This record gives sequence, C-alpha cells and structure tokens, in this order.
Amino acid sequence: MKKRKKLTYYAECLCKGIKVKIKDKIRHVSNCHCIQCMKTHGNFAAYTACEEQNMSFINNSTLRWFKSSKIAKRGFCVKCGASFFYKKYKSKNISIAAGMLKSPTKLKTYANIYVKNKMDYYKLDPKIPKFAKLK
Ligand SMILES: [Zn+2]
Repeated sequence: MKKRKKLTYYAECLCKGIKVKIKDKIRHVSNCHCIQCMKTHGNFAAYTACEEQNMSFINNSTLRWFKSSKIAKRGFCVKCGASFFYKKYKSKNISIAAGMLKSPTKLKTYANIYVKNKMDYYKLDPKIPKFAKLK
C-alpha cells in the first residue's frame, strides 16, 4: 500500500451520522471503475484506505452494511445515503470514500482500477496509471 506520513484524519458523511477518526498513514486515492462502485456511488468511486484497527468511530449511529459480494461489504449512511466504506472480509484494511475526509487531505490520486468496466461518458486522466485490479 502507498502510504503517507503519520497524521490524524477525520471523515464524516453529509449528516454526520457516520464520523470516524483515523490515526494511521492512509493510502493515496484510487478511482475504482467496477460495476459495484458505479451502482453504489452513482459514478466511479474514489477511495483511500487504512488499517481498520487504526480507525475509530466518533459516531456510527446511521451506519448500515450491505453485503455486496461474497468477499466484501459496503458501509453506507441510512440517513443521508452516503457510500462510506468498502470492506473485504479477509483484509485487515478498510477502504474509505475519499470525499468523506476533512479537506485538505494532501492526498493524490495514484491509480485508476477496474478500468475495463469504465463507462463511456467520461475520460480517464492519461497521467494516472491504469490497472486491471487494485495495486
Ligand atoms: Zn449521513
């Protein structure tokens, strides 16, 4: 995982029903173009990630989980509708939708992933590396 220097990050959804604190180096942002991200985010999804043990909830009162596949679940806000988390059951990491972070993030977009599933109404930035799957 590409990581940043140690910082404290905060992330919250629109209604603040989900709010987390991350004490960890968090990953730079990948844009995921898979069909599941399309259908849950309404567009490609920009995700950072951290080790789940370094993330703590300040509020999780509106958090619900949707089992989106055999290997992963997605956490969303039942009140404001935010798509917040992507969590592989067997991974120690949790992905957090980058737009939930408090700005400025000082992060960069380092990858476009699942580009085969990319939809036709937008173009990829040629300066961002493309990958079939997550690097
Ligand atoms: Zn919310």
